[in-house]
Amino acid sequence: MTMEEMVAQLNRWAYEYYVLDNPSVPDTQYDALYDRLVLLEKQTGIVLPDSPTRRVGGEPLKNFAQHNHLKRLYSLDKVQSFGELKEWVDKVEKQLGKTEFTVELKYDGLTINVTYRAGKFVGASTRGNGVTGEDVTEQVKTIRSVPLTIPFNGVCELQGEGIMRLSVLERYNRNHVGDTLKNARNAAAGAIRNLNPKVTAERNLDVVFYSNGYEEGLTASSQTELVQFLHNCGMLTNHVFEKAYSYEEIKSVIEKIGAARSGYDFLIDGVVIKVNDFARREELGYTDKFPKWAIAYKFDAEQVTTELLDVDWQVGRTGKLTPIAKLSPVELCGATIQRATLNNYGDINRKHLKKHALVFLRRSNDVIPEVLGAAEEGGVEIDKPSRCPACGAELQDVGANIYCVNAEHCRPQIVSRIVHYCSKNACDIEGLSDKTVELLVDKLSVRSVADLYSLDETELARLFVGGDRESKKAQNVVLAIEKSKKVSLAQFIFALGLDNVGTVTARDLAAEFGSIDALRIAKIEQLTSINGVGEVVAEGIVQFFAEPQNLEILDRLKAIGINPTYHLGHASGVFSGKKVVLTGSLSNYTRGQASRLIEERGGEIAASVSKSVNLVVVGEDAGSKLEKAISLGIEVIDEQKFVELLKN
Ligand code: AMP
Ligand code: ZN
Repeated sequence: MTMEEMVAQLNRWAYEYYVLDNPSVPDTQYDALYDRLVLLEKQTGIVLPDSPTRRVGGEPLKNFAQHNHLKRLYSLDKVQSFGELKEWVDKVEKQLGKTEFTVELKYDGLTINVTYRAGKFVGASTRGNGVTGEDVTEQVKTIRSVPLTIPFNGVCELQGEGIMRLSVLERYNRNHVGDTLKNARNAAAGAIRNLNPKVTAERNLDVVFYSNGYEEGLTASSQTELVQFLHNCGMLTNHVFEKAYSYEEIKSVIEKIGAARSGYDFLIDGVVIKVNDFARREELGYTDKFPKWAIAYKFDAEQVTTELLDVDWQVGRTGKLTPIAKLSPVELCGATIQRATLNNYGDINRKHLKKHALVFLRRSNDVIPEVLGAAEEGGVEIDKPSRCPACGAELQDVGANIYCVNAEHCRPQIVSRIVHYCSKNACDIEGLSDKTVELLVDKLSVRSVADLYSLDETELARLFVGGDRESKKAQNVVLAIEKSKKVSLAQFIFALGLDNVGTVTARDLAAEFGSIDALRIAKIEQLTSINGVGEVVAEGIVQFFAEPQNLEILDRLKAIGINPTYHLGHASGVFSGKKVVLTGSLSNYTRGQASRLIEERGGEIAASVSKSVNLVVVGEDAGSKLEKAISLGIEVIDEQKFVELLKN
């Protein structure tokens, strides 16, 4: 057998196994040939482009590169009832007359965009914001149902859903006791957005293809022809693909799918209805987010009943007590649920919840489980706590919430403040998990984030219980802490854990004030002049900087050398390498703010439009700059699009 023949044979078998789900040879026979191929590749130093040995997963990556989709990927507009669906069909038919629709499953996984050039797989990315996604080439390459070569010579981008079959999840969990995956969707998304391609390989994902983006020379002129093309490429295509010619026909396919759903070996969260003919699609066109020629019919979230065993009160970073329902374990959307948050005490009363009684539990695939209400009468009253369950201090009611007032000494508050400070979007100090921080608090008397910087490596190593590995860990933690001294202002502001200040507001505050010292003395009016900062947020900020303990910590941090100021430029930002012109007035940002936000994300601001400009952001009443941009063929985006890009 030549190497070409071996590769072709193995790919044929893999196709039977992974795509057709109908293997013609036992695994051992596949493995034997595979081993022979590995040997031959080693001897000759040749690895063919579609060799299955390319799928084992290479070295872990440092970070995800960005991929600009050759053509924008859209998300789908949704309806949640047959009434809304009928309205949509009516609207389409009003414009197009009698229309041929296709009805497919809406898989619940992660969108994957795969690029092929000259018949070869050259890259894969996530959807991201639709314009730019994360490059996950190495990860997706490990997925056996994604062909490495296809019989099409042009350039094309094809989209599919990365999923983990439920049977694969089950098998995985049987082999990984103690490290089990809860939900097939998160397992798939987590495996693809994992820097280590070996993790992706190990999870045995699939990609089901359903759509095309950019293409040169693809002859498909309808969804039916596209599916045929995908099929010819050896790809996995939708498990349900039906044509329908009216609302009634669509409805009956959906009902059929709804009834079959629980028997599927994968998660779906709805059904996608598309206009079949591509030319007719263009007549309908797009909104700025969705194609008007397709709609997702979303199934209701699944609902079950289970017993409410007890309620735990968890003390959070701000001292807020959150009731957590302990539930008798129950299966829901492919996951076992034993706990669910109850928001606050008011929520418990409103829902008439009692211990040892049945409650309704609901969960849509991507949302955390929610206790809807009591499912039967009776049960035992849930007591309102009178003292902090963690520190025994007094409690204070604020609206429907209960707070522990002992911010300085309440252990879970101390721990979660530090954990938050170390988190990825904050100071990004690796190695300090909740458990480790608890140890630091309990054993090394760490009381605030400032104490982190005087931790002693030897003491740490002893804490992690002796041995080489532990001293390495201690060393890494100390290094990570040291590194955090160079944190950016925006991340530092976020790290402080001000009430209601997320990463976006932190970034805006950094851009506006430029330093902690300036933010410390900010007045309410200054703060509320920033878009997105209301009275409540502003008051929270002012209050934070009025607390002597907080100021003391800030002073200590400053003395250690942590005093970040705002600075420009981020090589990996959405605008990196781009020359951007602003024109017209934006409703959400002043010119200055917008410029800073662009610069912070790696862009360069230019005053006038010329050939070297890459992007023009257009607000209200834009004038000649817009015309010039259009005549030069420069990309133009409106404010809504701009805001979307900023979120990235
Ligand atoms: P959503 O994420 O809820 O806005 O829904 C849009 C997503 O549904 C798309 O980005 C796809 O990833 C996914 N999807 C799953 N199955 C299909 C399908 N058959 N056709 C189109 N999109 C699908
Ligand atoms: Zn407390």
